[in-house]
Amino acid sequence: MSYKLSFGEHEGRTFEWLFFHAPWYVEFIISRGMLRQRHVFEEDESEYFRELYRRACGLTGQCRDCNERPIERLGLAWQHNGNLGMVGFWCDQCEYMGGSRAAYHPASFFVEAYTLARCDQKRITKEIKRLYLGRCKLTQEKMEAFFRNDTNFHNPTPGFFEQREEVLQ
Ligand SMILES: [Zn+2]
Repeated sequence: MSYKLSFGEHEGRTFEWLFFHAPWYVEFIISRGMLRQRHVFEEDESEYFRELYRRACGLTGQCRDCNERPIERLGLAWQHNGNLGMVGFWCDQCEYMGGSRAAYHPASFFVEAYTLARCDQKRITKEIKRLYLGRCKLTQEKMEAFFRNDTNFHNPTPGFFEQREEVLQ
């Protein structure tokens, strides 16, 4: 089970949908302190959103290059014309071997160093989808399974979703 947004341009969408499709809006909600505004987010909704955010900010899992070390970094390589050329995730030792130099950031849904264009932010979430979910339709079920898998994240509250669901049943 999940929650849906009760306001704004993405009203009716689930929280998980928002992380994958409009990460800038997630940052907007966080930066405006909206999770503390009880007329916008009830307490349990706010806790749930915060846990998704905590997870989304610290991606890990096995590096697909060496198949040994954990994923630590998000690499972005820019073309000469300023367009984003490559998005990829690596451990702290493997790196992008393409033509242009890659800039590395923490492995996250969000790049905080500067404000990326929305289309580039979407490239990042598409890569996350490709890497962690594979070639499939991005359903609510799949997104929930991704966020509930503690091994995908550096700093999950262990068993957060399972415990909530036990209480609710
Ligand atoms: Zn590696």
